[in-house]
Amino acid sequence: MEKTCVEQKKQYDILIIGAGVAGLSAAKSAYELGCRSILVVEHTNYLGGILHQCAHYGFGDGLNGPEYIQTLLDAFPNELEYRLNTTVIGIHADKTAVLSSAEYGVQTICFSQLILAAGCREIQAGALDIAGTRPMGVYTAGQMQEMINVYGILPQSPVVILGSGDIGLIMAKQIAEIGGEVALVEQNSVLGGLERNQWGIEQYAIPVYFDTTITELHGEKHLSAVTLGNGAELPCKTLLIAVGLIPNQELLDGIGHPDWLHLCGNCNRIHAMIESVVYEGKKAGISACEKL
Ligand SMILES: Cc1cc2nc3c(=O)[nH]c(=O)nc-3n(C[C@H](O)[C@H](O)[C@H](O)COP(=O)(O)OP(=O)(O)OC[C@H]3O[C@@H](n4cnc5c(N)ncnc54)[C@H](O)[C@@H]3O)c2cc1C
Repeated sequence: MEKTCVEQKKQYDILIIGAGVAGLSAAKSAYELGCRSILVVEHTNYLGGILHQCAHYGFGDGLNGPEYIQTLLDAFPNELEYRLNTTVIGIHADKTAVLSSAEYGVQTICFSQLILAAGCREIQAGALDIAGTRPMGVYTAGQMQEMINVYGILPQSPVVILGSGDIGLIMAKQIAEIGGEVALVEQNSVLGGLERNQWGIEQYAIPVYFDTTITELHGEKHLSAVTLGNGAELPCKTLLIAVGLIPNQELLDGIGHPDWLHLCGNCNRIHAMIESVVYEGKKAGISACEKL
């Protein structure tokens, strides 16, 4: 049977998937252009996306993640409609989206314009060619960031981080700061990531093993060591994988690139700087309004 929005409730001019910095910036610019029919749908129970777990400073004018979100929310229109704890599980070419939540079950929402601001996810250990057992103690860097900053759970030392991009560097510095023993393994001969995130490595004299990777994990129940490409074995109770991010674009499978679709933030491409996420979010809000 054909879905009708009148029966199902509800029709929005703009539906925004994801309430991170990109989605919130898009909502704000569309609102400022006069659009009053906007729904922001967010999978978690908080606004702000990944910045929620970023305790380090370096966002906007020297703020940490939660402080930066607060400045964004303070400037926000009260009338904005959003739903937390709600996941968009499907988008269809007839301009409908399927939402799932414990509170309302499965619902169909109709929209005129769709802004996808669903962020990205980390590459997991299982995707890497690492031999050996699969013991406890292996996480992604982002998982550990959330464990430390949101839940107050500290990693067991020694910690080894695979990958020296921004998230790997940020986590290495944070673990050294809280007194953990940490080392980095980087397949290239130089550190990745922004220069401002690299100085922590020197400041805390964190050892970096360049031009190599991790080839094997050891340990029965719990991780005990890792082997590097050159055969050296490093004692290791916690391994953090920080080897890259993948834009969350699976919802677009099968719908192509219709003119009602606008992408912004990390689900469009991976951004290193928050300013470019805000810029892209604003642009998505403006182009959605122009098409209404
Ligand atoms: C660990 C880390 C550290 C960083 N540090 C800095 C820094 O120091 N300085 C700086 O300038 N920049 C930094 N950045 C970069 C910048 O902060 C991010 O690129 C930016 O916050 C990404 O915003 P976003 O809205 O695109 O994604 P996110 O913040 O990931 O938001 C996406 C949102 O979409 C939701 N979502 C996903 N799928 C669905 C769905 N199907 N239904 C409903 N909701 C969904 C998610 O729950 C999430 O809340 C960092 C990034 C990371 C990952």
